[in-house]
Amino acid sequence: MTVRPFTRPFTQQEPIGEDGIAAAVDVLRSGRLHRYNTLAGETSAASELERAFAAYQGSRYCLACASGGYAMQLALRASGLATGEPVLTNAFTLAPVPGAIVAAGGRPVLVETTDDLVIDLDDLAAKAESSGARFLLVSHMRGHLADMDAMMAIAERRGLTVIEDCAHTMGAAWRGRKSGSFGRVACFSTQTYKHINSGEGGLLTTDDPELAARAIILSGSYMLYERHGAAPDAAVFDRIRLETPNNSGRMDNLRAAILLPQLDALDANVERWNARYRALEDGLSGAPRLHLPVRPPEEHYVGSSFQFLIPGIAADAARRFVQDALDLGVELKWFGAAEPQAFTSSHHSWTYIEPQKLPRTDRVLAGLFDMRVPLTFGVDDCRHIAEIIAHCAGRLSIAGAA
Ligand SMILES: *Cc1c(COP(=O)(O)O)cnc(C)c1O
Repeated sequence: MTVRPFTRPFTQQEPIGEDGIAAAVDVLRSGRLHRYNTLAGETSAASELERAFAAYQGSRYCLACASGGYAMQLALRASGLATGEPVLTNAFTLAPVPGAIVAAGGRPVLVETTDDLVIDLDDLAAKAESSGARFLLVSHMRGHLADMDAMMAIAERRGLTVIEDCAHTMGAAWRGRKSGSFGRVACFSTQTYKHINSGEGGLLTTDDPELAARAIILSGSYMLYERHGAAPDAAVFDRIRLETPNNSGRMDNLRAAILLPQLDALDANVERWNARYRALEDGLSGAPRLHLPVRPPEEHYVGSSFQFLIPGIAADAARRFVQDALDLGVELKWFGAAEPQAFTSSHHSWTYIEPQKLPRTDRVLAGLFDMRVPLTFGVDDCRHIAEIIAHCAGRLSIAGAA
């Protein structure tokens, strides 16, 4: 069988819309790029974004900041993490997550991953007990939501403060409730490869007034916090403003102006992503040896990337499979490689933390393949990509590679 190669780039996002470009040009013409540089009575774009995102999330408070990783650092610090304290987190996540824990002075305690790519709740319960951790930074890695009801029940039983890493779940929900509204605080990224794109950027949401105030001061608000868009009352700041350090990491008006119109388009884009995701899923559901993560009916996901497992695949077969797909124009990332590549990540390469034994996660990562699904691909493109992957998986079976 010959398969037509795919020729489009996997890293090409859609352009910023004309409305975003016009808003960015307005900011540039004004010269007031810094978020606190406002005229009397003017609301900065950064503050407008905070208001709009808080409304979108249904949260009381929102802080716009420099990156998703930075938002996680602030979330941990503002939650009262002490130096050297353990923080539970997913073993299957991206490097900025353990990085944020370490930057905030914490010690990551890694929790196993299931075949459906979510945090292993039995291991979570066990490690919550054995570590005595007060914090869980749950990473909804690649947009896969654990059973949030069961996870929150464990957190409640153990008294864990939950921080959600929603880098891949902006726009997602569990049983109709927005991802990011389960924990005490949630962190989002507006980096180019996430769901809204300002190059770099982060958003933090919470309903907790003191946590919000601390996060705002930490982000480098000087004493201009009253100019924020979705912040608690000044009285809350009075209590904490002098004891909270400034760790500058603000968002500027240029990025906020680009993001505002994208937020309006987010829900429609989620549907566009999911149409592409379903085309991939349909095209691969019968492919030999492939396990597709089960997406529970309670999960309203955002299919901005696609993962599948080939359980038991040997390393040389995995490398050959990735190369075969690449020869046909399909860029797969394999999480089992000895060294992390691009946006893959493995706990073995985080040598700045204590090594931890994670046999279940290692087994999952050894057979895990990952692909970006930019909206510049159409649904037909995704059918075509699925055909190529199925073809390469078929070759694996013929070669009899274990
Ligand atoms: C991208 C990402 C982050 C961090 O986002 P940045 O804005 O790049 O710091 C955190 N967690 C996950 C799972 C991510 O993919």
